[in-house]
Amino acid sequence: MSLDAAWALDWARRAALLAAENRAQLTELDRAIGDADHGDNLERGMKAVVAKLDAAQRAGGVPASPGGVLKLVATTLMATVGGAGGPLLGTAFLKAARSSDASAWGTQELVRALEEATSGLEARGHATSGDKTMADAWRPAAMAAKEAAEIGEDEIGVLAAAVQAAAKGAQDTEPLQARLGRASFLGERSCGHRDPGAQSSALILQAAADAARDHSSDPFLVVEQA
Ligand code: ADP
Ligand code: MG
Repeated sequence: MSLDAAWALDWARRAALLAAENRAQLTELDRAIGDADHGDNLERGMKAVVAKLDAAQRAGGVPASPGGVLKLVATTLMATVGGAGGPLLGTAFLKAARSSDASAWGTQELVRALEEATSGLEARGHATSGDKTMADAWRPAAMAAKEAAEIGEDEIGVLAAAVQAAAKGAQDTEPLQARLGRASFLGERSCGHRDPGAQSSALILQAAADAARDHSSDPFLVVEQA
């Protein structure tokens, strides 16, 4: 299998759903070590993304490649989400979009996209692992994806590995002292709380994996099982 524009569209729509479902939780995380707007920011941004996709579909102008879809996601997030989170996430999506112009992505393109997204947001935020930011979800995800591809996992396996690593990365931000962003103003008081951006990044990758699993349904397999 490989992942085409329909997968990327589904990824964006699922990410919007997860953002809406988890809005309150993300905002609570941001209330503890930030300014209590992360869930609202992400939900607003992803709602705007879905509106853009709907308009493109009505006009018959949906991008024909994963890169095209992700570019639309990126530019919409950058235009609609203020604060630190929006531009950083937008950068991640933009770098992923630019990592390949293929009409369908295999594991190699996926690994490259995750690596580029991660390096892009790290560079934009001057973030490194352990700073207690969204990079603490993206970096382990990119590394796990690469390892999964190297041992021959398919796209679903690569994304599953990325999701698991991102979720663990988000959890592992809890004891850390924030070195960047608003949370860093709290110093030691930022310890003991999960970083909201790392948590939302894990959800966004979860949406990518769920979409891939959905797109893998092979009609011949269904016939065999019947
Ligand atoms: P704001 O901090 O402006 O209110 P959000 O609440 O939407 O923006 O996003 C906060 C998240 O942004 C943090 O949880 C963290 O993951 C991420 N973040 C903040 N600053 C940086 C940075 N310099 N590099 C990487 N990520 C960052
Ligand atoms: Mg905030």
